[in-house]
Amino acid sequence: MTGPSEYTVGWICALPCEYVAAQSCLDEEHDDVSLDASQSDNNDYTLGRIGKHNVVIAVLPKGGHGTTSATAVARDMLHCFPNIRIGLMVGIGGGVPTKKDIRLGDVVVSAPQDGMSGVFQYDFGKSVQNQAFVSTGVLDQPPAALRGAMARIEAWYDRKGHQIEERLNAVLSENPRLRQKYSRPNSTSDLLFRPDLTHDSICNGGSGCVNDPENLVLRRERPQCEAITIHYGTIASGNQLMKNAVIRDELSQTKNILCFEMEAAGLMNHFPCAVIRGICDYSDSHKNDQWQGYAALTAALYTKDLLTQLSPREVNVEKRIADILSDVNKALARTEMGVRNMEPKLEMQEYNTILDWFTDLDHGLQLRDHISRRAPKTGGWFVESAEFNKWLTEPRQLLFCPGIPGAGKTMIASIVINHLHRVFENEKKVGIAFAFLSYQAQLSHFDLLRGLLKQLIPYPVPDEVVDLYEYHTQKGTRPSLDEVFSSLCTIISRFSRTFIVIDGLDEIPVSAGVRSKIVTELFNIQDTVGANIAVTSRPISGIVERFEERNSIRRDIRATDDDVRRFINSEILTFQTWIREADGLERNITDTVVKATDGMQVE
Ligand SMILES: [Zn+2]
Repeated sequence: MTGPSEYTVGWICALPCEYVAAQSCLDEEHDDVSLDASQSDNNDYTLGRIGKHNVVIAVLPKGGHGTTSATAVARDMLHCFPNIRIGLMVGIGGGVPTKKDIRLGDVVVSAPQDGMSGVFQYDFGKSVQNQAFVSTGVLDQPPAALRGAMARIEAWYDRKGHQIEERLNAVLSENPRLRQKYSRPNSTSDLLFRPDLTHDSICNGGSGCVNDPENLVLRRERPQCEAITIHYGTIASGNQLMKNAVIRDELSQTKNILCFEMEAAGLMNHFPCAVIRGICDYSDSHKNDQWQGYAALTAALYTKDLLTQLSPREVNVEKRIADILSDVNKALARTEMGVRNMEPKLEMQEYNTILDWFTDLDHGLQLRDHISRRAPKTGGWFVESAEFNKWLTEPRQLLFCPGIPGAGKTMIASIVINHLHRVFENEKKVGIAFAFLSYQAQLSHFDLLRGLLKQLIPYPVPDEVVDLYEYHTQKGTRPSLDEVFSSLCTIISRFSRTFIVIDGLDEIPVSAGVRSKIVTELFNIQDTVGANIAVTSRPISGIVERFEERNSIRRDIRATDDDVRRFINSEILTFQTWIREADGLERNITDTVVKATDGMQVE
């Protein structure tokens, strides 16, 4: 009889088909393990042996998708089986076919590469708002023993090829009942649709889209020997199902992501594990379930190979996961908070619908536009200034930055916003919002508040915002200024700090009192919930006084000679070659322009 402490490998699955796949990989099933009452929990475990290892397999409770549920299962498992040293999260996932030639039924294995961890956690809300991933992992590397086994198995497959297909067929002939759900679907059903072709809106949800070759991405035919290819790289794990090919490609671009899934996020910090995913779809709107069973089985069979490459001696040198976890209790506490925040309540689409309901202004787009026009390294003097740093570090500060037209105020505002995003990249509790005001856009003070609110609404959407949205959409009405203001204050009050950057206050016409109302609303926010606010403007009387009255920190914006020089140097590359080659001419031009601009940014 095997006691609980003799199990050293913990294998977690999310879906019933993944559980069945895992079970069918066992060389031997143990049904006589006694767990005493204090150890037993609500989880359903399957115990058995693979090669020389005793393995515990657990599945998430039915309907319990996502990180929170996976975390609870892992915690209970480690409590029941305290000697687990190797963690595995095995199942299906959505592939990214644009990076590598990934096909349905292939297997993606989380493996640290080029300084990137194997699993990348991201928070959908943040990634969409700030166009940046939020990496939260600390225990994001599979144990060394597993990484060693991965390298060996990779070499073995390279030399001899794998036998996954054959072994899969053996499993199916031993278990005929599995054939219908777990056999390889016909290859003609492995279709990759164009990323822009969204199934609901463009195909209208019908089934006709599969018949038009124009809709498909043309791919080479794969030889039979490559039918199941194993890929090593980064798996992105988020709080929402990825089903948008455009976002898929945008996100995967920056982080070299091969696969998207949901359960590993958060789990990694409670259960260091290797994540292994059989590819069942392409993370786009053309999902179907056809390949799930087969993909679950290819992933499970790869995992079995991995375990047979691992010796019990190697496993025993690894620390017990329970011990690793107690070592990082501090990090754990932090992540638990993150996991709670990530519990999905609304679909991503609903989240965006609510944000867009407040205003259709795309702040991220404006910012990217300004940043893209910045010459390298300009504006560094501003973020290094004492005034800026006082504003950055002390609460409830108001920073007023006057500058003449052409001094580069918008550029400095963009640099400040970018700097804030970088400094607080990993801080979920810091809110950042901004607005670029302009004559053309003609924003009112109400527009401004709605725009700020849109940027600060966290994911998941707080209940009071959902209530407000539902109340008004049912009645066909819009939220009032007071409602927007009070939602904004509620949300800001939950952040530990909030930064608001307003560029070009002077661009708002003084008529109709809009400008004055904007200033009043900003001061109201600061008085009510204490945000840090920075404002750029031409030094116009009427504006200057209002900021002086409030004892704001003042830092004038003036293009420095260095900035002008950098700007010209970046532009001079586009000058005719003869200017660059003519001795001294380039230097001459630069000096002349620097002198002529005198504090004005060249634009
Ligand atoms: Zn379609």
